Amino acid sequence: MSGSDNNLSHHRSRFPNRSEIVVVGAGAAGLAAARTLAVRRKDSNCRIRVLEASDKIGGRMFCEEIDGFHVYSGASVIHESFATTRELARELDVELHQSPKKKGGQSYAGDRFWGLYVGGSLKQTLQTLQTLFFSPQHTLADNVEFMRLFAMLRKRAKDLDFEDHTRMLDLDTEQSFAEFARANSLTRYLKQAGELDLNCFAAGSSEQVGAAYGMSLLWLWTINPKTRNHLPKQGIGTLANALVDACTSFIQVSTTVARIIIEDGRARGVVTTSGEKIEADAVICATTASTAARIIPESLGKLRAVREQVSYSSCCNVAFGLNANILADGSHAALFPPESPSFLTMVTNLAAMTPDAAPSGKSLVHALIIGEHARALFALDDGEIAGRVIEEMRRFFPAMPEHPLFARVYRWPEALCLSPGGMLRNMHDVRMRLHKCMRGLFLAGDYTRLPSLNGAVKRGVEAVEASLAYIASAEAANSR
Ligand SMILES: Cc1cc2nc3c(=O)[nH]c(=O)nc-3n(C[C@H](O)[C@H](O)[C@H](O)COP(=O)(O)OP(=O)(O)OC[C@H]3O[C@@H](n4cnc5c(N)ncnc54)[C@H](O)[C@@H]3O)c2cc1C
Repeated sequence: MSGSDNNLSHHRSRFPNRSEIVVVGAGAAGLAAARTLAVRRKDSNCRIRVLEASDKIGGRMFCEEIDGFHVYSGASVIHESFATTRELARELDVELHQSPKKKGGQSYAGDRFWGLYVGGSLKQTLQTLQTLFFSPQHTLADNVEFMRLFAMLRKRAKDLDFEDHTRMLDLDTEQSFAEFARANSLTRYLKQAGELDLNCFAAGSSEQVGAAYGMSLLWLWTINPKTRNHLPKQGIGTLANALVDACTSFIQVSTTVARIIIEDGRARGVVTTSGEKIEADAVICATTASTAARIIPESLGKLRAVREQVSYSSCCNVAFGLNANILADGSHAALFPPESPSFLTMVTNLAAMTPDAAPSGKSLVHALIIGEHARALFALDDGEIAGRVIEEMRRFFPAMPEHPLFARVYRWPEALCLSPGGMLRNMHDVRMRLHKCMRGLFLAGDYTRLPSLNGAVKRGVEAVEASLAYIASAEAANSR
């Protein structure tokens, strides 16, 4: 943590020919920006400061090790289309492994779990057939709708991409995914599987998620049978920690930015909540949209779209260290559709993808609770939340112990950006306009691209390139 840099406050570009860039927020976007600046600084001669409000680094990709368990608090999965994130892992010498083709999960319907497995044992194949023919959640009509959606999305498969969403901007109408489903007679599919999948991938409902974002989430994470993930063997924490290590010396934790200073149409620095003024030649705002809208001066009506268009889901993610697996063999998740008699949405055991996330013979299980159920839990303390979740899990998983090895509660009032209909296009426009009317200020954060870890990382890298180009052109203009 760069306490030693504090004396730079009030002294803009103190070193001749040395520019200052302040990054607000040390989540995936801010860290990717800081790391890129660190790599580029030899030739760009920039001084970097990252100001992070929390005492922990990583934002929604924060990970921690607890008694040999590699616990994640938010993001856990790197999709194979996350090209920028995978490239970052390669540069940081973090080895990623493709998840096995064999995968499986269960969902709860009519008082029991039903399994769906890809490439499993004969027994699992028979269980899958049983689910398709007899589960109350699956009917022939639903499956026909699913096949229709599959065909629609396959036609646009090349455009549905976490790396470059600009090819799918035409799909980003005002429609929510629920409206899109109704307009295309896909409501049975939505009830059968789509709603639950969106609950799990966005912690939100089909009414909240935009049509284009819903299509890309469903295609990339679940509908496309070729979907694979790429993760370090101990889980995403290996990548998160390598990224933090690469830029830790620039990061000042427990430092909340109250306001970004804009003067004469240019970003001039920031003021922290403790009143410290930190001057800068460029500012990268790598927070959520709601914080960005709060700390960027109100008078800038151009940012109204950020405030009005971007919304987030809420969730509570509770991690448990256990002596044994509580889910069915070969199943990495147990899902609870909205109408099921539980406040749980999903219970996961990522061991199938990250075999070394837990010490040998032990198991790391996460319970996800979304929406109003999560918000109700936020009022309780961590011990009470863990107690309620354990009690609930014991109703459905008989092997769940009353006293796990540990429980860790992560609260996310702003969990995943829901990308409501039209947000992608609007944010695209906002970035273009901002570039012209507020020079030296660069928005990062996952909401500025297709929301995901990759969107955040990619935007962090892009914001650095844009800020360095801005500084270089300002310096060139000054020297004329
Ligand atoms: C439970 C959960 C599961 C998820 N799973 C996945 C997944 O598997 N795959 C995937 O791709 N994505 C997943 N996501 C989404 C992913 O985590 C985010 O898209 C990504 O991490 C966002 O990064 P960010 O840098 O944009 O924002 P954040 O991580 O929110 O970072 C913003 C940072 O800014 C700091 N900050 C805020 N205000 C201020 C201020 N005033 N001054 C200074 N600092 C400030 C915050 O403390 C924070 O550290 C998940 C999210 C959650 C919550």
